[in-house]
Amino acid sequence: MSKTDIHNFIQEFAGRWPKDAPYYVWGTSASALKLCSLFDGRLNITAFVDNDEKAWGTLFQGRPVLSPEEFFLKRGDGRCIVASLAYGEISWQLERRGLAEHLDFCGSWYFTGMHRCLDAQELYLFRVDLSITSRCTLRCRHCNMLMPYYRQCGHYPAEDLLSDVDAYFRWVDHVDQFNILGGEPFLHPDVQKITKTITERYRSRINDLVFFSNGTVLPEEGLLDLMVRYQIKVDLGDYRAGVPAIRPKVDRFIEELERRGIAYAAPASSAWLDFNHPPEDRSSWKAEQLTAVRRNCREPFRGIHGQKYYFCHLNASAALGGLYPEEPGDSFDLSGSEEGRKEELLAYDLACLPKGYVSYCRHCGGCGPANQRMVPVAEQLPAGQQGRP
Ligand code: SF4
Repeated sequence: MSKTDIHNFIQEFAGRWPKDAPYYVWGTSASALKLCSLFDGRLNITAFVDNDEKAWGTLFQGRPVLSPEEFFLKRGDGRCIVASLAYGEISWQLERRGLAEHLDFCGSWYFTGMHRCLDAQELYLFRVDLSITSRCTLRCRHCNMLMPYYRQCGHYPAEDLLSDVDAYFRWVDHVDQFNILGGEPFLHPDVQKITKTITERYRSRINDLVFFSNGTVLPEEGLLDLMVRYQIKVDLGDYRAGVPAIRPKVDRFIEELERRGIAYAAPASSAWLDFNHPPEDRSSWKAEQLTAVRRNCREPFRGIHGQKYYFCHLNASAALGGLYPEEPGDSFDLSGSEEGRKEELLAYDLACLPKGYVSYCRHCGGCGPANQRMVPVAEQLPAGQQGRP
């Protein structure tokens, strides 16, 4: 996309999605609250919408909460901002009723990113993942990061990781969620140093700083103190049911988080979506078909590595593991000057991709509605098994 195209893309958005137009907001949870607080009461919200029938007929932020059916009846040509982590499912629900993404509805991060850019020339992004190691304590057959299949595993050097984080924050003014993950991030011998540096330099520019962990490695005392001081959360993949042998370690891990008041989420799921196999053979698919895969997927997993910003962190992981080669357009180069170019990164983040898709879309199940293949949670691979999933 040329500079002019990007400028037009943003101006077109501003024309269609002005701040003072009346909007419906889909969602009544933390994402909706965040949207309201970011715009500090300046959004003209007609009503909220929620799939949860317990919310119907109640008030949220002083506005009525409608059922989806009420919304479809009342909306006329009113537009909807989806403020929910279930953006993928909600957008399919809206599309089934004839609404079009970015014309009739858009994600709250899309709306926020664009308006921050227009109002304050600020780059405000939704989420980024920093993988600090490809070593893990488990060998999950269906790991969506493909970790057990890496040709070579190891901890990434702290200096390289911090230099990637510095490059990212040269471009990005604020990020809603910054995730530190692995493999298992608490295995990294320098995890405390990495975390301390990130918090000292950038904590004020990150809303939620989160570790993704399987709970089998208890962080050292100093790191736990940092987590308390800087309000770092833990997203715990709870695999105790699938791998009973880890239960004592995970129980102890949770006990320690609770004792110290460290916020954590441990959503237990009964099955995983299989990312590692596409639902059909896409080897001869053309760009339009792969672009449709990416568009339907709507995954939010951006990643940074090697001074590059990856649109899809699974794509980055597949390349880093030596499983599928990276292709041009899979990442945005952060090593150059950001001077006058922040809009380019915003457009890339909002899916204005050079090819419309990333190379791994050819091999990946993705989060689109076509992928219905569920697989067991944390099923372990036998020792020594390698190759591809
Ligand atoms: S389908 Fe494409 S964009 Fe979606 S998770 Fe897979 S590689 Fe990433």
